Amino acid sequence: MEGRISSVQSMGAVDGPGLRYVVFMQGCPLRCKYCHNPETWSTQGGTTQTADELCRTVTRYKPYFGESGGITVSGGEPLMQADFVAELFEKLHREHIHTVLDTSGAGSLKDAEKVLRHTDLVLCDLKFTTEESYRENCGGSLRHTLEFLKLTEKMGIPVWIRHVVAPGLTDTAEGLLAVKTLCKAFSNIEKIEWLPFKNLCVPKYKSLGLQFQMGDAPALSAARLEALLSETE
Ligand code: SF4
Repeated sequence: MEGRISSVQSMGAVDGPGLRYVVFMQGCPLRCKYCHNPETWSTQGGTTQTADELCRTVTRYKPYFGESGGITVSGGEPLMQADFVAELFEKLHREHIHTVLDTSGAGSLKDAEKVLRHTDLVLCDLKFTTEESYRENCGGSLRHTLEFLKLTEKMGIPVWIRHVVAPGLTDTAEGLLAVKTLCKAFSNIEKIEWLPFKNLCVPKYKSLGLQFQMGDAPALSAARLEALLSETE
C-alpha cells in the first residue's frame, strides 16, 4: 500500500541506536506548541511511496547500518498511517533490518498493535505529565500515551522516552521529576532522552504562514538542562 511521506533523512544519528534511515510521515493529530515539524501536520502534502518501494530503498543502506542501526519511522504521527508502517516494518524484518517507531502514542490501540508486532524499539514522546497541561499545550490526551505505553509493556517491546524541555512549559525540576516518576511505573522503559527546546524552526512557520506558539522563546541551553537534571537526583 501507499504511504504519504513528508521527508526522509538517509543517515540519521539521533533517532534511535546507530546510523538510521529516518522517515518522517505526513499527518499529525496533535499541535504541540513547541513543534519543530509543522510541515508534517497536514495529511496532504509530502510525496507518496509504496511500502515495497521504500523497503527497497532502505535495504540499499543496509551495509551502513552496522550492528545497531536500521530504520526509524517518525513524523508527524506515524500511527496515523498504521497499516502502511506495519507493512513496511514487516517487509524490513524479512530483510533483518532493525525497526524503530517514534510516536506520541496518539491513535487507536488496535492500530498501534499492528505496528508494534513488527517493531524492535519504541521512542515514545511523553510531552506532559498531567492531562490538563497535555490538552492545553498539545491539543491531545495524556491518556493515549499512557495506554500506548501499557500496550508496549504487555507486548514486551523496549521503550526510550523522549521529553522536550521547553522554556516556560516544562523547564522545572518538579516537571522533570514527574517524568522520571511516571516512567518508573513501566518495566520496559530503558531510558529517558531529554531534548532541549530549539527555535530553529521559526523560518518554517513563517514560510507556512503559521504562528509559532513559543514566540521568541530562547533555545534551552545544555547547561540549564544539566542544572535542572541535577536538581532531580
Ligand atoms: S506530535 Fe510531533 S509532529 Fe505532532 S505536533 Fe507534536 S511535536 Fe509536532
